[in-house]
Amino acid sequence: MADFSDEQLQKIWERTNGKCHLCGAWHTFDTYAQDDGWEVDHSKPQAKGGSDHMNNLYVACIPCNRSKGDQLSAREVRKSNGLQTIPPSTKEVRRTRKIWVCVGAVCCFALGIFGLASSREVS
Ligand SMILES: [Zn+2]
Repeated sequence: MADFSDEQLQKIWERTNGKCHLCGAWHTFDTYAQDDGWEVDHSKPQAKGGSDHMNNLYVACIPCNRSKGDQLSAREVRKSNGLQTIPPSTKEVRRTRKIWVCVGAVCCFALGIFGLASSREVS
């Protein structure tokens, strides 16, 4: 098993915002390699030519990773756990939050304009 630097682990953790890419369970960063924590999964197993490159590495619960083994694809395991896609990254989660704040602001603004316009029509 490859050794990862703290910086690499942080990047891997942020790729799914700490969620197991196989079942969606959430792990805090500091439970890396602990019994009920997470470890780094090679989405495409090394036995099948998967690399140590960042885009092949994900957070996985230790039991999830062990049961996936080298034979199943990550997609198959996700499907059997009812997950459609890889959980969003920390960046995506923040971006989505920002988008909703913007949508809220635009809606309030539009409602305000609409309210103003309709109140003018009445008078
Ligand atoms: Zn899991």
